[in-house]
Amino acid sequence: MSGYHKRNLDPFPVNKLRRVDRPTTFIDDGQIKRVKERDAGFMKARRGSYGQTYQKEVGRFVTKHPLSGAEAWIGLMIRNLVDGVAAKQKAPIQDDPKVLSVHIKEAVYFLRADAVGICELPSYAIYSHNFDFRNPESDGIPVELNHKYAIAILVDQDWRTAQAFTGHDWISNSMSMLAYTNSGFIAIILAEYIRRLGYPARAHYAANYQVVVPPILLWAGLGEMSRIGDCIINPFLGPRFKAAVVTTDLPLVPDRPIDFGLQDFCSSCKKCARECLGGALSDSGKEMHNGYEKWPLDVEKCTKMRVGNQNGSGCGTCLKVCPWNKPYSPLHRAVGWAVRNSSLARRIAIRGDDLMGYGKPNYSKKWWFDLEDVEGNGVLLKPIKNNTN
Ligand code: SF4
Repeated sequence: MSGYHKRNLDPFPVNKLRRVDRPTTFIDDGQIKRVKERDAGFMKARRGSYGQTYQKEVGRFVTKHPLSGAEAWIGLMIRNLVDGVAAKQKAPIQDDPKVLSVHIKEAVYFLRADAVGICELPSYAIYSHNFDFRNPESDGIPVELNHKYAIAILVDQDWRTAQAFTGHDWISNSMSMLAYTNSGFIAIILAEYIRRLGYPARAHYAANYQVVVPPILLWAGLGEMSRIGDCIINPFLGPRFKAAVVTTDLPLVPDRPIDFGLQDFCSSCKKCARECLGGALSDSGKEMHNGYEKWPLDVEKCTKMRVGNQNGSGCGTCLKVCPWNKPYSPLHRAVGWAVRNSSLARRIAIRGDDLMGYGKPNYSKKWWFDLEDVEGNGVLLKPIKNNTN
């Protein structure tokens, strides 16, 4: 028993996507080594691997804008709510995995997620060690996680704002933090709900992950691996989302991976590599990296651009310019259908995206204030020169 089951609340026609047995990125499962969280770019910056400037900036690059600072603040306040004890008695509900899978997905949409998928939790998607903030030079805290399933939850970063921003201005981190915190909020509620039904469950989100998210999204049928490093692209949201995960032993039916032609699209498009301000993305071919065949990402350059950006808060230029970053309007639904189903349509769409001027900021839609919190504690706010508000 596997695959998609029709639900009432699906915002997108996920039942029409082509399902495949394995992700479209080649994964050599046996070769993948579990990774330590300390080796992620932001953790390396924290440890001083990229120099003192970035070690200092990584502590303020989110809080230096008051909105992203507020979002990160509430995200941190809930970080200890990810786990708990399951009810001693199972709830008097059907234990048919198909029924439970449909129900869980409906519940996730009710909680205001934009997409949801289920997979069996691959052991290589679990960190071997979590970063230890009190002892950053250590390997970290060993992770023990034996849940069978992962429920992946996507939250859109907001098309209207994505339309207005440059990709690297003062709203960039606020878009990320909105989706990180809201997806975490949904995951924490869902995990608690499952525990109240009598099954173990743990939430994982930006402030408290025990899992590596991209392989889970691939196996849960929520996207394909893109040229933007480890970034997954969803056919309806593009790269404009953040994800949280709930791991559990609640009996569920895994979804299957999807193929919407992204490997072919990214092979020709290369727009993110062309526009990346940090020079972190490659326009060359795929390479093997820890068991994954993927387009290479220079993590150090990417981290330095996002952390060290002095003309904005963070960077999501790749998200901004990607042709898959579009609204779910009738026009883009039609184009999306053609691009998913025809390589000729993909070639035309790649040319057309630049010709139509997509990827440029629409300043008439700008709604936020450009402000910098100089000390990172919400006290001293400095207006930015050339503020268009
Ligand atoms: Fe792929 Fe083009 Fe998007 Fe980069 S900008 S991820 S190459 S579709």
